[in-house]
Amino acid sequence: MTDNGNVLTVRNLKTHFFSREGTLKAIDGVDFELKPGEVLGIAGESGCGKSVTAQSILRILPKHGRTVDGEVLLSRNGAAVDLLTLDEEGPEIRRIRGKEIAMIFQEPMTSFSPVHTIGNQIIESIRLHNRGLSKREARARAIDMLHRVGMPNPASTIDEYPFNLSGGMRQRAMIAMALSCGPRVLIADEPTTAVDVTIQAQVLELLKELQGQLGMAVIMITHDLGVIAELADRVLIMYLGKGVEFGTVEQIFHNPLHPYTRGLLASIPKLTRGREVIEPIQGTVPSPYDPLTGCPFNPRCAHRMAGVCDLEMPEVVEVEEGHRVACHLYPKDAQT
Ligand code: SF4
Repeated sequence: MTDNGNVLTVRNLKTHFFSREGTLKAIDGVDFELKPGEVLGIAGESGCGKSVTAQSILRILPKHGRTVDGEVLLSRNGAAVDLLTLDEEGPEIRRIRGKEIAMIFQEPMTSFSPVHTIGNQIIESIRLHNRGLSKREARARAIDMLHRVGMPNPASTIDEYPFNLSGGMRQRAMIAMALSCGPRVLIADEPTTAVDVTIQAQVLELLKELQGQLGMAVIMITHDLGVIAELADRVLIMYLGKGVEFGTVEQIFHNPLHPYTRGLLASIPKLTRGREVIEPIQGTVPSPYDPLTGCPFNPRCAHRMAGVCDLEMPEVVEVEEGHRVACHLYPKDAQT
């Protein structure tokens, strides 16, 4: 298996949750590629499967979730290892988590233990992945990392407990922990949801700066297309567990193809316009427990073609180089 120049390749990912209410197809066909050093934005409404995609990649799904199909290929020295073939509790995936792929969560309090200082937690993570490092060396590295993320007085803040820090400082500490082992891929899952607007801007600026300095690839999960426009090189748009459009940030913002993507873009208020009517996407997201036949967007789509969209699932078609869409408006014979 070769890596095709990608640090991460996700193919036909399907993750389902099994409960008494039935089977919830949280992810039902997601494909993307991530090149070294690029930022991929994953966008879509709440519940579309963005966070479950990240959990599936790292094999940290809740107990009742299982990835039932697909490949998650991580490049290694010109070859690729499929993370879905690894034992989810085994030593190899543990080595990969944190060391090669790190994650920043929405709410830092859920990833820090409240009974240990942030320093001890960062030091433990560094020593777990760097066996030869002494405690003193790991502490120096942790202080350096806290300094790089702009933590005030890192030499003393390192000994604080998470609950003593403000929301913005906790978020910086979590970024420091995630980056302390120099991962090749960072997954940031709505990293600014739990902080106020001014801190949001600082955290995003910090991530952009560190991504440039460290050259890592980033998967930025967000419902905010403004964040995507600001940070991303390429974009995956998700709807009801499916990847419906994928392309460069220019392709998605200047030539959106999927009616859902167009709807998302039309619903963003623009400061440059005077008084304007924001066009929300009609209808609501259908229940994932009650799967539809055909295109999952068909009950809300103004371009729906009766007898086609409600019966057949559209295939993913590459309409221009690197720009893929799953919609019957773009038939297979229009593929480049
Ligand atoms: Fe709309 Fe049909 Fe395209 Fe689905 S496949 S987005 S219903 S036009």
